Amino acid sequence: MAFVFPNESIQNPVVKYFFLAYNVFVRQKIETWLLAFQLDEWLCAHVVEVVAVLPKLVREDLMTDPSFIMHDYDPRDRTVTCVPVGMPSRGKPGRSVSLKRTLNGRPIEFVRWVIAHELAHAHLRNRGRSIDEDPETAADSLAADWGFPKPVRRF
Ligand SMILES: [Zn+2]
Repeated sequence: MAFVFPNESIQNPVVKYFFLAYNVFVRQKIETWLLAFQLDEWLCAHVVEVVAVLPKLVREDLMTDPSFIMHDYDPRDRTVTCVPVGMPSRGKPGRSVSLKRTLNGRPIEFVRWVIAHELAHAHLRNRGRSIDEDPETAADSLAADWGFPKPVRRF
């Protein structure tokens, strides 16, 4: 279980209890939020692990956006899939993250990197962090900053 805050160094039992309780609270919020997307159970568990360690600003950016949608599908079922897109709001386009269920069985670090990379795209609204930054480079960099570096080996 990943923690929202590093807790190994916390010696004070009251402070430690606070951080543990906070982690449980955040996880429950994430799990409740994800229910609406009806992701496969195994995939949902990985998404929780990634979202739980996102910076609070990023997590709240995604979790409070009613036009953000997560979706999963099995590419073996159909050659074409319908990817839902959230309703635009406040002049901003809807955002969505679509994940393949065929990630199941891949190494955990690859699965979580894919999730973090896609969440980074959503957070950056498919742009770079500056005008001339490539969106793929930006998503990889942000995912790495969050603790999910692009795996060196191709899976
Ligand atoms: Zn990408």
